[in-house]
Amino acid sequence: METLSLKERLTSSEQLYKETGRYQGIEHLALKETEPFRYEKVYSELRGALVSARETALHISASPIVRNIGELCFAFYTPEGDSVAVSTGIITHVHTMSEAIKFMIRQDYEQDPGIREGDIFCNNDPDLGNVHTTDVHTMIPIFWDGEMIGWAGGVAHQVDIGASTPGHDPVATANRFEDGFYVTAEKIGEHDQVHKDFKIRAQRSVRTPLYWDLDEKCRIAGIYMVRDAIFRLIQEEGLEYIKTFMREAVEEGRQIFMARIRERLVPGIYRTASFMDAPYEGKAWHPEQNHDFMMHAPMEITIGPEGSFKLDMDGASASGPFPFNSSEGSMQGALWVQITQTLIYDGKVNDGSYLAAQHHFPPGSWCNPQNPSLAYGFAWGYLIPAFTGMFRLLSRGYFARGYREEIVSGYGFTGDPTQGGGTLANGSYFPVSNFELCAVGLGARGTMDGLDAAYAMWNPEADMGDAEVWETIESGFLYLSRRFKPDTAGYGRFRGGSGWESLRLVHGVEELQLYSFREGRVFHGGAGLFGGYPAATGYRLFVRNTNFYDLVQSQMPYPLGDPDPARQELQQGLQGDVYFSRDALILPQSFHNGDVWLSLFSGGPGYGDPVERPPATVLEDVREGIYLPETAEKVFGVATRLDDHADAQIDEDATQRARHAIIATRQARSVPFDTFWQMERERIERHDMAEPVRRMYQESMTLSPRWAEEFKQFWSLPANFVL
Ligand code: MN
Repeated sequence: METLSLKERLTSSEQLYKETGRYQGIEHLALKETEPFRYEKVYSELRGALVSARETALHISASPIVRNIGELCFAFYTPEGDSVAVSTGIITHVHTMSEAIKFMIRQDYEQDPGIREGDIFCNNDPDLGNVHTTDVHTMIPIFWDGEMIGWAGGVAHQVDIGASTPGHDPVATANRFEDGFYVTAEKIGEHDQVHKDFKIRAQRSVRTPLYWDLDEKCRIAGIYMVRDAIFRLIQEEGLEYIKTFMREAVEEGRQIFMARIRERLVPGIYRTASFMDAPYEGKAWHPEQNHDFMMHAPMEITIGPEGSFKLDMDGASASGPFPFNSSEGSMQGALWVQITQTLIYDGKVNDGSYLAAQHHFPPGSWCNPQNPSLAYGFAWGYLIPAFTGMFRLLSRGYFARGYREEIVSGYGFTGDPTQGGGTLANGSYFPVSNFELCAVGLGARGTMDGLDAAYAMWNPEADMGDAEVWETIESGFLYLSRRFKPDTAGYGRFRGGSGWESLRLVHGVEELQLYSFREGRVFHGGAGLFGGYPAATGYRLFVRNTNFYDLVQSQMPYPLGDPDPARQELQQGLQGDVYFSRDALILPQSFHNGDVWLSLFSGGPGYGDPVERPPATVLEDVREGIYLPETAEKVFGVATRLDDHADAQIDEDATQRARHAIIATRQARSVPFDTFWQMERERIERHDMAEPVRRMYQESMTLSPRWAEEFKQFWSLPANFVL
């Protein structure tokens, strides 16, 4: 029987790791070495129990985000809060729940409010271990014969979290007090029952109490299934075996991570930067928010010869009065989910890999604000673009080691979440909490094109869900179409996965509020890789006060989207008041019956030079509507013409001329690096840059004197230079 308190056990675990570099100071994987089959069988049973808990429990939820997209996951933790094994699903949260558990332990929850058999805890506070408030954790301690032996946790993304505007990723917020319902690591139940007062508070704190209630039941059912599985394992294998097994599995996870790093990456320092735009000027509801913000996410990864991994984001721009602040816990979660998709996808996926990955997120920056008063409702808005850098950096390492097939040039931005809420003609409320963005383009690989409309960086099981299912909850907001969007795939020898669009009609409502956000003026995923191009950015397009119903009445065709913005199919096909903007951010506005709204889902970046893409492959792209014929000619140098059957064919002579012309133009435009450096240096000296860019670099220089020093040194600027 363990006699130390949880806090003592956590302190001891951290101390042992610090002293030995191994989890709990474990020197040998004794169980694995002596009885490997038994050890692997227990791991598989545990993993299987977590996956089946998720597959079963999600049917309890009524929310399409959980039930159809599977936006939940379950994990099992050591008593100290380190994950041992995980289910499928939104596994970013395996590590954020670990942070929440450790917060409770460090805050002496064992004394007050107590950590006892049958207790239920809940957390959604990003400042102590979550990504954004909409992701709600439920956690229980597991006891055997009175001894605390571990934790089970489940997380699900809510339809609505009671923020100042309806939806799950609010964009109009400027501080915590608008983020919605906060549950800061609270004990919400005892004796396997959620307290009635908590239930009442939760029901009154969100706009969609039914979904809250069923999501909570889904999480609790899942974690009880995990608990039952642990009891079964203890009965089969004995308590001592399971206790030793848990620790060994985490240590093995750490060892697998380091071995994989040694195998896949060349030691050295890898650097890149990513950016994101958040254009609030002229739109903001708060005076302090009335700026066009830009995120700067410099990323440096240092790989040691022994397999060590260190991520440093020194130089990141500042936190601020926007909802994209990302807590350290959310960055750790993102780091973890990227590692498990690119390096440890087939090993023991647990916190062992997290322990082996050192990190530094600079205090005060957007990626570690250390200020609970800020808004965290849409942390993903900055975090997703920032971590494209990690794919680029690791891919350079894979390339250097010769693992061409492991390369991924980046991923599409899972943005443009159409959100809001409204009332139907009968007065009933309906949420607009669309999650079809869980299926954007993956970046091109080193050996093949990226996946079309099938990737999300935070949930490896990407799924856009059925339009009909979304309509069941978004009952006043109907689908007119869903289709691939030409020219969204990043150009390259291998192209990025294609993005797509959906067109929606406001119908049968008394009133409807809508808003959304994605990148509009910057390439969120940086450039593509090795000559590949970034994916297309988004824009905002809707038409109000349309003649849609007249068209239907007179049986005339209505437009089905905006395949080529230059041709304006949507604007030409409908009469009405058109809103078009390169800013993809829009704060909540009112919409009425007959209004038509376009959502745009991102493609992935490309890999390699597009003029090296075989013409026959580009022809396929044109035939499939991935690229417009003029794009094929202008970017890929592949000229097509229509034959007698109106099928696209390659025009061989014109293709040869076009490819030569592209290369000749590049040669004519090229300058030696020294000339380029001189030109850019003069621009910096003159402060010749857009205001949001100047402000962004100024924030980086203020927060990090080291970064400022390097910037000035690189551009040969005087020591007293300020932006
Ligand atoms: Mn979420």
